[in-house]
Amino acid sequence: MIPREIVDRIFDAARVEEVIGEFVTLKKTGANYKGLSPFNNERTPSFVVSPSKNIWKDFSSGKGGNAVTFLMEHESLSFPEALRYLAKKYGIEIPEAEEMSAEDQAAANERESLMLINTFAQEFFTEQLHQTDEGKSIGLSYLKERGFDGKTIEKFNLGYCPSSGDAFSKAALAKGYRLEYLEKLGLTRQRNDRPYDFFKGRIIFPIQSISGRVLGFGARTMQRDSKIAKYFNSPESEVYHKSKVLYGVFQARAEIAKADNCYLVEGYTDVTALHQAGITNVVASSGTALTPDQVRLIRRYTPNVTILFDGDSAGIKASFRGIDLILAEGMNVKVLLLPDGHDPDSFSRERSYTEIKKYFERESQDFVVFKAGVLMQDAVNDPLRKAAAVKDIVQSIALIPDHITRSVYIQACSTRLDIEEIALKNELNKLLRKDARKQLQVGEDVVPDKGPKAPRQTIAPATGTASQERELMRLLLNYGNEEISVPLPSGEEGAKVEVTLPVCDVIIGELETDGLQFENFRYQRIFNEYCEFREREELPSNDWFVRHEDPHISQLAVDLVSQPYELSAMWEERFHIYTTTEDKRLMHTVMDGIYTFKLRRVLQLITKTEEEMKNATPETDIMQLLERKKRLDTVKMKLAEFSGSTIL
Ligand code: ATP
Ligand code: MN
Repeated sequence: MIPREIVDRIFDAARVEEVIGEFVTLKKTGANYKGLSPFNNERTPSFVVSPSKNIWKDFSSGKGGNAVTFLMEHESLSFPEALRYLAKKYGIEIPEAEEMSAEDQAAANERESLMLINTFAQEFFTEQLHQTDEGKSIGLSYLKERGFDGKTIEKFNLGYCPSSGDAFSKAALAKGYRLEYLEKLGLTRQRNDRPYDFFKGRIIFPIQSISGRVLGFGARTMQRDSKIAKYFNSPESEVYHKSKVLYGVFQARAEIAKADNCYLVEGYTDVTALHQAGITNVVASSGTALTPDQVRLIRRYTPNVTILFDGDSAGIKASFRGIDLILAEGMNVKVLLLPDGHDPDSFSRERSYTEIKKYFERESQDFVVFKAGVLMQDAVNDPLRKAAAVKDIVQSIALIPDHITRSVYIQACSTRLDIEEIALKNELNKLLRKDARKQLQVGEDVVPDKGPKAPRQTIAPATGTASQERELMRLLLNYGNEEISVPLPSGEEGAKVEVTLPVCDVIIGELETDGLQFENFRYQRIFNEYCEFREREELPSNDWFVRHEDPHISQLAVDLVSQPYELSAMWEERFHIYTTTEDKRLMHTVMDGIYTFKLRRVLQLITKTEEEMKNATPETDIMQLLERKKRLDTVKMKLAEFSGSTIL
């Protein structure tokens, strides 16, 4: 357990926009920040960060929370892991005794253990490379020979796994890490019941998440024997999902956003070499075709991607289909061919930063136009192939979500292919119609956005008080500590006395006089906790519930304080709804909230009484029921008058 005061210090230090800014490109809009949802595949930003409330809200997935819950959600961290991450970021020390011992770790959950082991392994391999004779004479000298400089080796946390066979496994087991976990991570294997290091005698490339956590490893042999696999990679595990990771993204993400472009290469060494040459907005797919998740990872930082191809790459045409997928994600794709016989690694070693930069700028071509060129070249003097090529290209264009971009491409390709624009357009429309039909069959994308709920005006005598309770909670959490003046219900006619009270006291007082409780047990918990504060004559801090130790409470609180009112700028923009600032009418809003809640309860009681009357037996005291109903009706009228609500 991390002591409460340290937890508080971490929460105090953590600026939600700073924490999230490392994962999502945020743009300032008014008092808030906005960006593309990292949880959903979207093109219009609906992810909002409010620095003043220190919360985030994702309107596309409905998720929301504070800096800690963001890390938990986004990085799949546990609560203590998220706190540790923030402590590190903000230079807050967690007392040594609170760090996990190997025994604690054994008890901790599996995923957390796997993460710890990966970190341990990375540190072990790095130490081996720099601190041992073998590491230096074999590993380091290999890297130096290949032109890696010290800074690059450090930046990518490269390492070396000793060739002895079990040095790593022994060290990890001695530390108390479980063999089972070492095997799950692919770091250790067994032969004749003896553990050995899977990566033995190899150079280690740690694969890091966007926040720098070690997820897995690539390991290169230094032997030239072509029968040995050049790279060994970590297997899929609970912490390493190959299809969701890009090599180098941690080192490149800030530069990708800044340059508003991402270079995509194939190999580990292509990434490191380009970084060393000064081109730092580059990531690698590690030898395979890009997956949708990887494309989305890039799109968080930029909509522009440039794919580098080796000069003699026979695989360019084979990669066309794969690239279509990037177009379908709404990205702008360029391709860049390197001179014959070069990969990015060899190319960058021979040239200065300026030369590389110039070449990249000059040679980048738009993918669709490039593809058209390649296919048409193959089809000269062959009308059938030409027709097929046209179809193929239009298929690519049809995948582009934005219609303006599509028509720009139709124009460009018309010139390139020497085909009338109208012919291309017709072909395109045919495909789009087919697509639309398919989508309708699958039922995708046809569910209309429901938009915000209309403000409550009418009250139908249905069951439950969910929405009234929610409204009261919202008022309590947003304005609980603010003072309002309320008329004192004095018995004497005419004498109007007003008292000034914090909103929470008004709500607590009103509910307690009538002995009302929330049906929602979490609301009731929040309410009780608030009452405890008041009994001590204290007020909870504004974000007390937002940072509550119970994640359910915290989640609820975030939802309630990020209601449309606060984020009205966005709602206005998106849905053309104009909200009034309710602070001005706070007293009325609060009283209305209370009375509406009470009214709803009375309506519930009336319905119940009517039920009882309907089901009356000869033994039922019908008079008593009638009297109760009459009393309730009077209260109902009074409350309705107060709250100004309409009763259906
Ligand atoms: P180097 O320059 O050290 O030879 P590279 O990164 O250029 O390495 P390539 O042969 O171009 O390697 O392969 C590109 C990428 O494909 C590698 O970085 C690696 O991610 C992956 N890869 C290559 N060979 C293998 C293999 N045998 N097993 C698994 N992955 C591999
Ligand atoms: Mn290479």
